[in-house]
Amino acid sequence: MPAAPALEAKTALPLQSAHGQLAEAIDFLGYPEGQHAMLRTSRREMTVSVPLRRDNGEIELLTGHRVQHNISRGPAKGGIRFHPGVDLDEVRALAMWMTWKCALIDVPYGGAKGGVAIDPTGYSKDELERLTRRFTSEIMPILGPEKDIPAPDIGTDEQTMAWIMDTFSVNHGHTIPAVVTGKPISIGGSHGRASATSRGVVHCALEAAAERSLRPETCTAAVQGFGKVGAGAATFLAEAGVSVEYVSDQYGALYADGGLDLAALSRHVAATGSVVGFDGADPVSQADLLEADVDILVPAAVEGVITEANAAAVRAKIVVEGANGPTTIPADRILADQGTLVVPDILANAGGVLVSYFEWVQGNQAYWWTKEEVEEKLRVRMISAYREVSDFSRKYGIGLRSAATALAVQRVAEAHRLRGLYP
Ligand code: GLU
Repeated sequence: MPAAPALEAKTALPLQSAHGQLAEAIDFLGYPEGQHAMLRTSRREMTVSVPLRRDNGEIELLTGHRVQHNISRGPAKGGIRFHPGVDLDEVRALAMWMTWKCALIDVPYGGAKGGVAIDPTGYSKDELERLTRRFTSEIMPILGPEKDIPAPDIGTDEQTMAWIMDTFSVNHGHTIPAVVTGKPISIGGSHGRASATSRGVVHCALEAAAERSLRPETCTAAVQGFGKVGAGAATFLAEAGVSVEYVSDQYGALYADGGLDLAALSRHVAATGSVVGFDGADPVSQADLLEADVDILVPAAVEGVITEANAAAVRAKIVVEGANGPTTIPADRILADQGTLVVPDILANAGGVLVSYFEWVQGNQAYWWTKEEVEEKLRVRMISAYREVSDFSRKYGIGLRSAATALAVQRVAEAHRLRGLYP
């Protein structure tokens, strides 16, 4: 695998974006300052040190966090990230976005996020298992199928979820599959979970294209990120007839006139660990991808990649946010001014947590749905959420992000109002 990741730098603080988006929604909804303060602040935060015994016997001390932003609508829900950029403020922002995402897609959850500041690519599988188990054990007091339910995020996968489920279950003396989602299917995972975020992104992309009177077969696309979200999004876009001309990962970007051969590219990535060096395309820069003359741009990597510095150069007609927080607030304004339709993260990538919810429901009932059932329920709910946000945005003359945030904040506030403030 090539060295020197090019997409490492975090160019904006996600918490600033999350706070700014909330402030705008509060303003729109006319809520008082006390309510704003409650919605802006995490309900519960836990920071833990995680000692890891390396394979060579040395001990390395890492830091992890689990933040529960809000639990008014149900148990806290959200992924666990292993990435060197993880810090408490980033986790706070991601937890807040989970609250809005769960409310928007109308699943009975609050929002949470967790993470460990580590680059998992530099560790063996045994080391990652020890790290995951120790981190789980440290945050165990606040986890549980009715309390807080983790899932995969950047740098974690279904194997990580299996270790979390096992550690939690062994400590409770019985198997508790519903404590995490995104598990392997053979131990209680759901059909369709692994591809759910990508499928949801594509349902939104196609709805947005239809809104702009674009037919999929006439559309071109660029997808930033070729991981759990981006690779699937590229593939499902192509299946819908879209010509996916640009893709990238953290090591480099590619362009193929007339569309990439995604099956061949996936084989190349499986063999080499990166898109770099793929024969069937030309290497381009990350900037070339973000500024490509395509109809649909899907940022599906990390936060803060469309900023004040490059937003004016974005030529895509539609941006569908597969990643959480890829667009900063100043960039959002620039995109709105130039007429770019931005499908916001809390809508575009909500398919993941939606099928997490389906997995949790199935686990609680010990009754399993087919892949077709899961995918049909996902399709119906993503499209209806898209249309709800789009109608709200038209009704009030605001952008899709403002509409999505306002709708979600309103639902969380309504749950809190009905429950009342204790004591
Ligand atoms: N990490 C994913 C997200 O950001 C999924 C969360 C979940 O399924 O709980 O939406």
